[in-house]
Amino acid sequence: YEITYGDWSSDVCSSDLSQEFKRKKIERMYDQNNIFAKILRGEIPCDKIYEDKYTLAFKDINPQAKVHVLVIPKGAYVDMNDFSANAKSEEIEGLIRALGKVAGILGVSASGYRYLGNNGRDGGQEVPHLHFHIFGGEKLGRMIHK
Ligand code: 5GP
Repeated sequence: YEITYGDWSSDVCSSDLSQEFKRKKIERMYDQNNIFAKILRGEIPCDKIYEDKYTLAFKDINPQAKVHVLVIPKGAYVDMNDFSANAKSEEIEGLIRALGKVAGILGVSASGYRYLGNNGRDGGQEVPHLHFHIFGGEKLGRMIHK
């Protein structure tokens, strides 16, 4: 999937109507059949760690560290571009608070962990529903491998 956001930066109209148009434009690009949408609808099982009104956290099916959990918003957001521009304040707060809570549930708050979000093509994002990875339970090495 490919999303172009650049053209919006030239927008001069900041009316509510314009915001609504942008939101709808993104909604149409959200793939309702991506794997995390199916997990949220209960069509595919997951190993749930935490759930609240705005967020679901579950174990990654292909763990890259001793602890590897995914934290996702329940709302239909493709990526951070979409979420940061279109999510309601309570959804943004909910996701960030959930990240801290999940780290606590996983027992890595004190030992440390890494939260990571792959975004778009260069970020290597594979599933087009916003998600944060939480890695921990061991030393994680350097930030980026090349
Ligand atoms: P991305 O590369 O998009 O940041 O990460 C997607 C992650 O989703 C990968 O780490 C992958 O292992 C995980 N994943 C893909 N399909 C499933 C699934 O069906 N269930 C779970 N629990 N994780 C999945």
